[in-house]
Amino acid sequence: MSDHLNLVLVTGAGGFIGGNLVAALRARGLQRVRAVDSKPIEEWYQRFDDVENLSLDLNLKESCEKAAHGASDIYNLAANMGGMGFIEHNKALCMLSVLINTHMLQAAVKFGAQRFFYASSACVYNGDKQKAFEAPSLKEEDAYPALAEDGYGWEKLFSERICRHFLEDFGLDTRVARFHNVYGPWGTWYGGREKAPAAICRKVIEAKVSGKHEIDIWGPGNQTRSFMFIDDCLKGIDLIMNSEILEPINLGSSEAVTINQLVDMAEEIAGIKLKRNYNLSAPRGVNGRNSDNTLIQKYLSWEPNTSLRIGLEKTYRWIYDQYLARERGEAGVVREAAAVTR
Ligand code: NAD
Repeated sequence: MSDHLNLVLVTGAGGFIGGNLVAALRARGLQRVRAVDSKPIEEWYQRFDDVENLSLDLNLKESCEKAAHGASDIYNLAANMGGMGFIEHNKALCMLSVLINTHMLQAAVKFGAQRFFYASSACVYNGDKQKAFEAPSLKEEDAYPALAEDGYGWEKLFSERICRHFLEDFGLDTRVARFHNVYGPWGTWYGGREKAPAAICRKVIEAKVSGKHEIDIWGPGNQTRSFMFIDDCLKGIDLIMNSEILEPINLGSSEAVTINQLVDMAEEIAGIKLKRNYNLSAPRGVNGRNSDNTLIQKYLSWEPNTSLRIGLEKTYRWIYDQYLARERGEAGVVREAAAVTR
C-alpha cells in the first residue's frame, strides 16, 4: 500500500477520474506514479511532467505487462465508458473492457503487485430493482440475482467477480468500489460520452450564451439519480484501497434528485429559466437509482457528503470557462491549457 516510494500505477489516467486521481496522488506526496491511457498523451484531460506518462492500449496483454511492471499498487480505471447515450449504443465496445481488467489482473499477479483497485459501477444492479421513480436505494446485495445494465453493467459485474477470484485463488489483494455517477471538473463535457451533470451544465450554458432559452432533456425528467462529486470519489478510492473491505462496496452520494431538480440547480447557478423540451425517445436509463450507504458507513464511518449544489456550481464554472474558450475557436489551446504541467 501507499508507501511514498512505491511505484503506483493509474490506468485510464488520460480520462476524468484517472486524471484527477493522478493529481491527488501527487498532492499526497507520492513520488513514483505511472499514468497510462490509450489516448495520445496530448489528448489527456490532465497530464503532469513529473509522472511517467505512457500511451498504451491495455486491451493487449503485453501493454498491461509494461504498465504493471514494478508497480506495487494498481488503480484500474481504464474502460470504454460514457453516459447513457454512449453505453446504450456501444454495448460490444463496453463489454470489450473485460480485456483490460483481465489482462491487468494477470499482469498484476505476474509482477507481484500488492494491491489492485477496480472501478465498478452502479450499473451492475438488477434492473428490476430500479423500476420505481422514487429512487430505490441500492444495497450491495441488490446486484443479485443478476440483471445488470446490458453491455456495460454485465462487463462490470463479471470483472468484479474475476477480482474476487484473483483474491481467493491467487492471493492478489483486490478492492472493488461501485461508483454512482461521478461528476466534476476535468470530466467529459461534450462529444457524446458526457454524463447528465456535465451535459446539463453545457446545455444551460449554451442557452445562456446563445440567448435561446430552451433546453432538451432526455426522458420525462422525473428519473432519479444521485451524483458524487469528484473530491468525494477520490477520498473514497483512497479509503477503500487502504481498507480491509474485500467485497464490492457502493461509493456514491445518497442525495437523490430528479433530472428536473438537477436542471433547476443548473438554472439557478446560471441565473436563467429555460423552456424544457422532453425527448421521450432519447436514452434515459433506469427510472430510479440511489446509493444505499449503510455498508460504507459501517466500514469507514464516512460517505460522500459534498452537496450537489456545491459540486455542481464548481463543475458549472469549470465547463463555462471551457465552453467560452472553445467558442473562441481555441479548442486546441483549451486542450493545452487543460494540461497541467510543471
Ligand atoms: P473516462 O472515459 O473519462 O476515462 C476512462 C479512460 O480509459 C479514458 O481516458 C480512455 O481513453 C481510457 N481507456 C479506454 N480504453 C483503454 C484501453 N484499451 N487502454 C488504455 N486506456 C483505455 O471515464 P471515467 O469517468 O474517468 O471512468 C473511470 C472508471 O470509472 C471507468 O472504469 C468507469 O467505468 C468507472 N465509472 C465511472 C463512473 C462515472 O460516473 N464517471 C461511474 C461508474 C463507474
